[in-house]
Amino acid sequence: MKDWQASATELYDGTFRHMFVDGAWCAAQSGREMKATNPADGTLLATVPRGDAADIDAAVQAARRAFEGPWSTFTPYERQNLLLRIAERFEAEWDRLCLSDTLDMGMPIARTLANQRRVLGMLRFYAGQAVSVHGQTIPNSFPGEIYSSTVREPVGVVGAIIPWNAPIAGSVWKIAPALATGCTIVLKPSEEASLTVLMIARIMQEAGLPDGVLNIVTGTGAEAGAALAEHPGVDKIVFTGSTATGQAIARAATGNLKRVSLELGGKSPVIVCRDADIDKAVPVAAMAVFANSGQICIAGSRLFVAREIHDEFVRRVADYASKLKIGHGIAPDTEVGPIISGRQAERIEGYLSAGPVEGAEVVTGGGRATGTGLGGGHFFQPTVFGGVTDEMSIAREEIFGPVISAMPFDTLDEVVARANATPYGLAAGVFSTHLGTAHKLANRLKAGSVWVNMYHAIDPAVPFGGMKMSGYGREGGSEHVEEYLDTKAIWINAD
Ligand code: NAD
Repeated sequence: MKDWQASATELYDGTFRHMFVDGAWCAAQSGREMKATNPADGTLLATVPRGDAADIDAAVQAARRAFEGPWSTFTPYERQNLLLRIAERFEAEWDRLCLSDTLDMGMPIARTLANQRRVLGMLRFYAGQAVSVHGQTIPNSFPGEIYSSTVREPVGVVGAIIPWNAPIAGSVWKIAPALATGCTIVLKPSEEASLTVLMIARIMQEAGLPDGVLNIVTGTGAEAGAALAEHPGVDKIVFTGSTATGQAIARAATGNLKRVSLELGGKSPVIVCRDADIDKAVPVAAMAVFANSGQICIAGSRLFVAREIHDEFVRRVADYASKLKIGHGIAPDTEVGPIISGRQAERIEGYLSAGPVEGAEVVTGGGRATGTGLGGGHFFQPTVFGGVTDEMSIAREEIFGPVISAMPFDTLDEVVARANATPYGLAAGVFSTHLGTAHKLANRLKAGSVWVNMYHAIDPAVPFGGMKMSGYGREGGSEHVEEYLDTKAIWINAD
């Protein structure tokens, strides 16, 4: 078995004191820095620049120069080749990227490693998209006299802001479509997890990315993120994060009416019908939340179970939860890693206290996990609440922690109404062995993704995104590149 701890000591070197602007590795103009710590034990991993509006401005200008200069001469085939070379480099560097993610944001190494197919698939999918973009010739009211057609043009300089919970896939899903379409990009990673994104920039630079096409400005949301969202030189913002921040970004974008796509939070329902295959459904329903310690936007945190099987099903999910291995992400057998920060841990504790006060019953878990080796970070027991009602805060609000709120239901009409009675609409799960029931539920649930007898599947070729306050715009699928393109109509008088 690989000794991840030994590899960890060699991972970060001096370059991680720098961010990436116009092809150069540089400090923040202010000279300020921020600490990058390991959430599993609080140790210092590296320092990174604390960029602000001045650094964002320099990065946007570099992105503009590249967009109007050398990058604009790249053919679709050259952009395709670049993405394919990047994919090869990712494959070669995959272990180091995963190790960095695990150290920087705590995700269990087994889980980061398992994302390889998806991330390489993204790079190769968008390589294909680079040569698939095309306009149309459109018949008009003056046949033979006037010809009309469309061309698709890159929207320009894209500003991308991402959260900390999946830095590799999160950044690639912003960068790859920008490269495919001929846009340039300024990306601000989360202040909680910048290191892997900087590593990704270095890999892309080594693969031949021209200067200024990708720029990474590290810094806080208030100082660097807000400056990017309101910058008049940015043509489009792509954002993944909380709904509250998404609203602030949409407001900030109005200054120059830049286009916006938002991938936001959720409170996703998982519905277990009485004809579900219980043996198969239990582990999937549990990991719909406990994967990544519940720090996942699509967490299926509201578990609706048909009353006839409710008690047995909830007991079995709780049994499963209580056996999950909690620990440092770097241990190959860890299933539930640390929570990213003290602030987020306090938030989770608030919900763990609120549940019983509002009348819920703790079926398993209910507090912090303690034990050998867990002292330096914030670890929580996977928790299942029973006796939950729709009005309780644990059933309404996104917790972003390892907490399931279980509730019985009696009829399909009732559960559809309750599942949809949330401002969010990101994802949903359905467990049923009856094809008709599964179809009916999938059609009636108001969510961007519905998984039947499974959960979590995301693929670059399949659109992913939210309805209602979970955001707008889609990542994945051929419609994703539309977000990075403008349409121009061209009229030609043939007389
Ligand atoms: P967050 O909204 O606090 O931060 C996300 C990013 O926005 C960070 O880079 C942060 O620095 C930046 N930011 C903060 N304030 C800003 C501002 N005023 N202007 C511009 N940028 C600002 O979210 P988080 O805590 O990092 O991540 C958790 C949230 O992200 C959860 O709500 C989760 O559901 C959501 N999320 C959604 C998806 C999805 O695809 N729908 C995926 C992952 C996470």
